[in-house]
Amino acid sequence: MTEFLAPPPHILDARLAPVFEGAALRRLCTGAAWSEGPVWLPQDDSVLWSDIPNNRMLRWSPADGMSVWRDQVDFTNGHALDGAGNLLHCSHGQRAIVRTPQVGGRLHADTPDEVVVGHFHGKRLNSPNDVVVQSNGCIWFTDPPYGILGDREGHKAPPELGGNYVFCYDPSDGQLHKASGFLQEPNGLAFSPDESLLYVSDTSAALRPDGTGHHHIVVFDVREHALEDPRVFARVSPGVPDGFRVDHRGRIYTSSEDSVQVLHPDGTLLGKIPVPEKVGNVTFGGTRRDTLFIAASTSLYSIVLNTRGAPRP
Ligand code: MG
Repeated sequence: MTEFLAPPPHILDARLAPVFEGAALRRLCTGAAWSEGPVWLPQDDSVLWSDIPNNRMLRWSPADGMSVWRDQVDFTNGHALDGAGNLLHCSHGQRAIVRTPQVGGRLHADTPDEVVVGHFHGKRLNSPNDVVVQSNGCIWFTDPPYGILGDREGHKAPPELGGNYVFCYDPSDGQLHKASGFLQEPNGLAFSPDESLLYVSDTSAALRPDGTGHHHIVVFDVREHALEDPRVFARVSPGVPDGFRVDHRGRIYTSSEDSVQVLHPDGTLLGKIPVPEKVGNVTFGGTRRDTLFIAASTSLYSIVLNTRGAPRP
């Protein structure tokens, strides 16, 4: 891996200065076609992420570098760990939330997956895109149609639901709840640190050059299995807020075309981390949870910040 000179983080609001102090972007590895859905595994100090067009999952660790974790994964996208350390996948190909159970305190590539949920009222989901797990165990995910529009990132197929929803799956009773139908094409999502709010992006502008789509993050109040009182939180440009994570102070770190943008909980754009490739998704990790891992086009990047990720992303 040749070293590259990263542009320095860009501070727009002095409140961010302590977070960026001494921080520098590193490119960890490259060789993917389009990177999404990174997740930090504290079990073995590694990052897993999706290389969707190549239909595989990649792994990087400080000890081992980059490798293929799984091949022919039926087009996984977003990932999250549940409270027991099992790995949840958004599967475009299976049109479902799928789980790799932890065995012996570790996640193994050859452990068979289990389908968690793939239908709503008897109809197939579109193509789950991103997932987060609430501290009570509920699994929240977005279900836009990107994985069924063609064969590059899934299997082309007609939608069955008649809408693009945010869902909440409650494993305590196996019920799938439609949490919101407010967004045209819901994509990334993350809780505020106290889980009273859920941020969800609408990236419908990505496929609509006529200007009728959105490229913003909407914040909702969380009421049991539902999302209420949607407010536009921030418009992100250039590009779209495909994915984002929240730190322990409630700041949002979102993807955009040319950088990771950092937003205050009041919606103010605090600063940017320029990235030399289009950013897909991000996740906090590292033994101190102070490292932001950035899945951006062909590469995985990291930057160590003077903050740490929220306990439940
Ligand atoms: Mg996404």
